[in-house]
Amino acid sequence: MESIPNKEYSYAGTKSPLFTVFSSEPLLSTKDKLLTLETLQKSLDLKEMMENFASLVASFIRPFNIRFQSAFGFFSLSKSQQSNFTRNFNLDSAGLSPRLGTMTYQSATPFTTTEDKLLSELHQLLQPSLKHALKFSELNSMVYKDYLTNIGNRAYYDETIFHAIEQSNRTNLGLSLMVLDINKFKPINDTYGHSKGDQVLNAFAQVLTKSIRTSDFVFRLGGDEFVIILQPSTPCSIAKVQQRIKQEIEKNSLLKELNFSASFGFSHWEIGTSAAQLFDQADQHLYQNKALARAHR
Ligand code: GH3
Ligand code: MG
Repeated sequence: MESIPNKEYSYAGTKSPLFTVFSSEPLLSTKDKLLTLETLQKSLDLKEMMENFASLVASFIRPFNIRFQSAFGFFSLSKSQQSNFTRNFNLDSAGLSPRLGTMTYQSATPFTTTEDKLLSELHQLLQPSLKHALKFSELNSMVYKDYLTNIGNRAYYDETIFHAIEQSNRTNLGLSLMVLDINKFKPINDTYGHSKGDQVLNAFAQVLTKSIRTSDFVFRLGGDEFVIILQPSTPCSIAKVQQRIKQEIEKNSLLKELNFSASFGFSHWEIGTSAAQLFDQADQHLYQNKALARAHR
């Protein structure tokens, strides 16, 4: 078989491959491989790593819609291509089980043999970094998840509110905080037992998750206290979320049966407000509403 130097096969910077290759020689040059490894090692975060990988694919081959699916993580990047042609690749960790996951590419035009081969070579380089990113994402979710309800915990809240304020500083997006505390939760524990209390906490976490948009976040800070970060947010966002929470509580048989209610307080971020001030304002509002709720009991 004709031997062609590797550099002839480097597609860096070109939009589409020029010819089909039958050689078993690698298509990526040593320089391309080094660049790929360097780029993939820039971040351990799954999303960032896959975004970097997608840029490499776009520069070495061409842009595709890309989806990666595994038991520990999911990534999707759409380049608004039609999905006339699809290629699936199973990614292995050096042939070991379990598999790392499945990479799917979609294109409006057919995939060539050269493109298949280049993708396989890029996957070989991606696999070790991807394995670490998946482990990192698994560990992160353990650190940031509330063990009982599976929603974010206090550590995740602290980090998220910090980033939300940073983003609002840059982009002028509305940012609101809602703090919630279950009314008369202790009597539920005392009357029906701690495990019923846990079920109530879980049910309420689900209610809150269903009542917000995908861009918002819900956390359990501890005990029966929850917090929601709304971003983007307008002055009427709080009322809308509150209305949905009410409806979702009505739909939940356990909460309805227990005549469940919660008090809430909110605050809106303004330039110069710190995370602690934003929380204190919402917490004070909650405290006032709690006092009102007690007065009506
Ligand atoms: P209020 O209406 O004033 O909010 O009173 P409350 O009865 O809801 O009491 P409070 O919010 O002060 O106390 C929360 C209770 O939540 C106290 C504690 O026994 C209970 N609790 C804290 N963590 C857990 C948990 O993980 N599971 C269960 N079942 N109960 C918990
Ligand atoms: Mg309470």
